Amino acid sequence: MKLKNNIDLRSDTVTKPSIQMKAYMMDAELGDDVFEDDPTVKKFEEKTAQMFGKEAGLFCSSGTMTNQIALMVYLKPGDEVICSREAHIYNYEGGGIARNSGASVRLINRSSGIIYLEEIIDNINPNDIHYPVTSLVSLENTINRGGGVCYPIKEIERISNYCKTENIPLHLDGARLFNALVKTGVKANHIGPLFDSISLCFSKGLGTPVGSVLIGSKDFIQKARRVRKVIGGGMRQVGMLAAAGIYALENNIDRLSIDHYHAELLANALSNCSWIEKVMNVETNIVVGYLKENYQTEEFIDRLKNDGILAIPFGKGRVRMVTHLDVSKEDVEKVISSLKF
Ligand SMILES: *Cc1c(COP(=O)(O)O)cnc(C)c1O
Repeated sequence: MKLKNNIDLRSDTVTKPSIQMKAYMMDAELGDDVFEDDPTVKKFEEKTAQMFGKEAGLFCSSGTMTNQIALMVYLKPGDEVICSREAHIYNYEGGGIARNSGASVRLINRSSGIIYLEEIIDNINPNDIHYPVTSLVSLENTINRGGGVCYPIKEIERISNYCKTENIPLHLDGARLFNALVKTGVKANHIGPLFDSISLCFSKGLGTPVGSVLIGSKDFIQKARRVRKVIGGGMRQVGMLAAAGIYALENNIDRLSIDHYHAELLANALSNCSWIEKVMNVETNIVVGYLKENYQTEEFIDRLKNDGILAIPFGKGRVRMVTHLDVSKEDVEKVISSLKF
């Protein structure tokens, strides 16, 4: 596949660091982070945690790792986590809930991926030796399989209050949380305290080459640091990668609104394409289209590929396009004219 001149809408993970980001990375002060000696990693972890009103952070190689570490801290074999049937932790982390934590999972089925307090309450097991112990509730914001929808903050507040009174930890897979904050205007230091832990990705919309940060209390992050070491995730002079994250926090958050606008334009064009039945409501940077019956996802993808546009299949009869900082206004215009069939 010739990638260079393609307009790559497969994911917001495909972004490459800008010249300015690279220059900032080159200047990073380094040390051995397993000895907690890397000043740039420390600065990045602290800056991220403070932004969300949390005590501490842990820099990891991926969002799968930050989620899985959090699950391993909360869950013992035989425990149960409540999440959506659409959740990334369930669908796209290689069965890690079972493999890493030995835990059982209670899925709530709703295509948006939003789960409501009443459903959570209904799915908490009674204190009875027959049942797995409900030890965690996990939410996602924005919701990838929900087409990038933002979790309603009022619902998060209700769930958070309930979990606090019931002493059930609440985790957030916030791979695209910055998109949700930019879209809804909710402040980081408002949403942060509603969760016990949050996983944040920097290699998606924020445009770093790699990296996620897990944030939570000092005690939680101390436990998470131990788990990260066990699974081989302790890294040494990674201040250069952390520097990319610091650069992203300072420069790449507000511009996410541009990606959201581009996604709206694409959604509009996609809904006018004759092969498309409907388009999921777009709130952030993810556009999901449903093909009409008798049209094949692969053929649709190939047709765009001939015009140098890359999209991906997204479940049966669905295609996904994601906007990001390497997709320009001109790119969006090209895609719009290519969708006129
Ligand atoms: C991308 C993503 C992750 C993490 O993926 P990695 O590729 O492991 O960084 C986690 N949750 C959601 C919702 C995601 O979209």
